Order: sequence, then C-alpha cells, then structure tokens
Amino acid sequence: MDSVGLSDRAVDYTARFGRFLEQEVAPLEEDLAAKRAGTPWQPHLDEAGRMHPAVWAARREVQRRSARAGLYQPHLGAHVGGGGFSRVEMHHVEEFVYRTAGLGLGLAALGWTESGNPALEHASGPARERYLDPLMAGEVTTAFANTERSVGTDVLAMQTHARRDGGDWIVNGQKAWITNAHFADFFQVVAVTEPGAGTRSLSMFLVDADAPGFSRGRDIPTILGDGLTGELELRDVRVPAENVVGEVGDGFALAMSWINWRRVTRGGMCAGWSGWLMDRALERATRRTVSGRPIADLQVIQHLLADMDADRFAARAASLVAQERLDALGPFAIPLSPEAPRLISLIKLINDEAFFRVVDRAVQINGAVGLIQGSPEEKLFRIARNLRIPAGTSEIQRNSIARRLLREHEGPAA
Ligand SMILES: Cc1cc2nc3c(=O)[nH]c(=O)nc-3n(C[C@H](O)[C@H](O)[C@H](O)COP(=O)(O)OP(=O)(O)OC[C@H]3O[C@@H](n4cnc5c(N)ncnc54)[C@H](O)[C@@H]3O)c2cc1C
Repeated sequence: MDSVGLSDRAVDYTARFGRFLEQEVAPLEEDLAAKRAGTPWQPHLDEAGRMHPAVWAARREVQRRSARAGLYQPHLGAHVGGGGFSRVEMHHVEEFVYRTAGLGLGLAALGWTESGNPALEHASGPARERYLDPLMAGEVTTAFANTERSVGTDVLAMQTHARRDGGDWIVNGQKAWITNAHFADFFQVVAVTEPGAGTRSLSMFLVDADAPGFSRGRDIPTILGDGLTGELELRDVRVPAENVVGEVGDGFALAMSWINWRRVTRGGMCAGWSGWLMDRALERATRRTVSGRPIADLQVIQHLLADMDADRFAARAASLVAQERLDALGPFAIPLSPEAPRLISLIKLINDEAFFRVVDRAVQINGAVGLIQGSPEEKLFRIARNLRIPAGTSEIQRNSIARRLLREHEGPAA
C-alpha cells in the first residue's frame, strides 16, 4: 500500500505497536485462550450474552499496558496527554492496527469508544483531572450515552433532561444502545437543558457509574456479538456543575465531535480489515483446488479479487484525501467548519459501503469456510453490516453530503 502523508512519527508508532502486539499482547492472548472462557461458538461471551469477564479483564490489561507504552491514545491532543496525531497520521495508524491485530485482543490497545475522545478535551480542569487523566492512563473506561429507545437519528428529540438545582444539575432519563454500558466507570450523558433551543438545547454531563440514582439496564445483544451494548437509567442523578463538559448548550456540538471521531476512523479501520481479508482471500484462492487447479485460475474468482481490490483502493484513497482536507479544517472543531460534515460523511459512507462489498466477496471466495462461526470472514461480515448503522446511518451520511452540495450550489445568498 502506498504511504500518502505517512510521517516519521506514524512509522515509529506502527513499529512500536507491532512490537507491542508480539511482546505484550500475544502472551495475554495465550493466557486467555487457556482459560477457555465463554462457549465454543461464543468464546467472548458469558452465558447471558455479555462480554465474558475474563475477556474484559484481558482487554483492560492490554489498555493499561498500551497506555504505559504511550500507544493508547495517539488521536487526542498532546495538551491532554495524547499523541497529537493528525487525521492523516491516524488513518495510517488505524489501518496498521486493524490489519495487524485483525480481530484479536490487540485492537483494545488503540483507544476507541471506551477511551478518551475529542469531546472530553473540553472538560473543565477538575473534571479533566478526575475523569480524563485516569482514562488516558487506561485506569478507567467510559461510554458515550446519546441514543434512547425512541430516539436515534433524531437526536434533538431526546427525552433525557437535566434541571439546575443550586450549583448542581439533576439528570433524569433512559439511554439505550450504549456501547460499554455494563463496564464503564463513568458516562458522557447527553441531556436536554433548554427545550426548544435547537442545536443549543443539549448539554453533556459526566456521570459516575456509582452515582445514586444511576443504574445499568438490560443488555442488548446485537449482530456484532461483542456483548457490550446495553441500556442505562438515570433517576434524579445529581451532577456537579464542574461535570458539565464545555458550556451549557454545547451538548449537540460535543456529541457530534464524538460521533465525527467515530465516523472518520472508518477510513483506516475499513482499509486495515480489507487488507487483511484480501491477504486471506489470495491465500485461499491460490491453495484451494477444484478439478486439480487452484480456484485462483478461474476468471470468476479473479474478478472477485479485482473487485475487492478496486473497492479497497478507492475507499482508502477517498479517506486519505478527505482526512488531509479535514486536518486543515479541524474535524472536531467547535464550531465545526461548514465544509467538514460532507468530508466526514464521505469517509464513513464510502468506507462502510465498500467494506460491506469487500467482506461479502471475501466470504464468497472462501466458500463454506467463510461461513464458519467465528472465522474472520464471518465475523467481519457481521461487523460490516453493523457499521452502516451506528454513528449515523448511511442515509444520514447521504443527507449530510447532499446538504453541503446544495448549499454550495445555491451560493452564499441562499
Ligand atoms: C452496536 C451498536 C452500538 C451503538 N453504540 C452507541 C453508543 O455507544 N452510544 C450511543 O449513543 N448510541 C449508540 N448506538 C446507537 C446508534 O448510534 C443508532 O442506532 C444510530 O444512530 C441510528 O439510530 P436508530 O437505530 O434509532 O435508527 P432510526 O433513527 O430509527 O433510523 C431507522 C431508519 O430510518 C432512516 N432515517 C431516520 N431518519 C432519517 C432521515 N432524517 N433521513 C433519511 N433516513 C432517515 C435511517 O437511516 C434508518 O435506515 C449504537 C448502535 C448499535 C447498533
């Protein structure tokens, strides 16, 4: 793969990450395998369908070690202890990590939804010390609590609300579809603080998992099978003013900075996993024989491989071009450049849709082997189907792209 925008520090990071996988993660993976956690077909889950405690413990150990090795949160600003990497650098890092770690424990070494994120860079001084610093050190995990049972895409219609009580806030509501609902030490809860104020109607609060009135609800098993999705309930949860992230009324912009972060990571993630699938498909096609000849000799298989490559190449190139432009605009800036949403949505839409086609072809080339539960192709097929919904569905990405195109076409007077 070519190395557009690959910096020396990203090369250094990936070399260190590769060594970390061999020296630190591989022994933990062996220990975990020896524990025989879960069931044969669901080795990551407990009997209730939640991530198995042994798997969770192993992931947490990877995160702590990764933080100590300075590998955990390259995506965050240096001023909060992150690596200060640009989005182009992060594309290369993410591509390397997903291609090299595959679906193994090593994925936990690079901060994702349970780790530090751009919204938290806006936390107040005391909240940074109390929440962000331990998060950066891998000592705790968090979760982003935005979605509700009756409100996903239409986020401004959320019901969870907060009212002032002296210097504190009292938060009430329910959240659903929350990744890491059952394990997080604290939550980034988005709630209505000024009904009817549109994009200024929401605020983001940091809520401790052990705060009186806060409880974890039922699990929601999904096609992902990661055992991490669940519900939350907040009943008269008292939150101090210092736990408001940014300013009161910033909640929508902060939520979007979290969501946009997840959207832009799709470029490196899909490129990495597509590369891994490509290697595996080539290996299978050249080894599997039919009538005494490798299936790679069949033009129909060659075309599947070529189409995988075309999708992977186009999606990766689109990501790198858009990430470079976003580096100039600030992908998580508040206020966000009006040019940024289209670019962010292009990365998510192009990569999610291309990756789904890539993994579908990978399954086809592998034949029945690609359908074995727990095989990389089968798992990635389920993951790829999932990717097109969370962090904004493909339709919502199309809305955002079209909105910008029409605004540009109509000009500044419109
Ligand atoms: C595995 C998983 C993990 C998740 N993790 C989190 C998390 O950590 N935190 C969190 O807050 N949320 C999380 N979510 C929620 C996720 O962000 C939402 O599911 C997603 O935003 C879509 O909302 P919805 O499911 O309510 O779909 P709906 O909003 O009900 O949409 C249903 C359909 O209608 C379409 N649609 C809706 N509105 C429009 C429109 N205006 N224009 C065109 N089409 C439209 C959608 O594209 C979709 O096809 C997670 C979801 C899943 C599945």
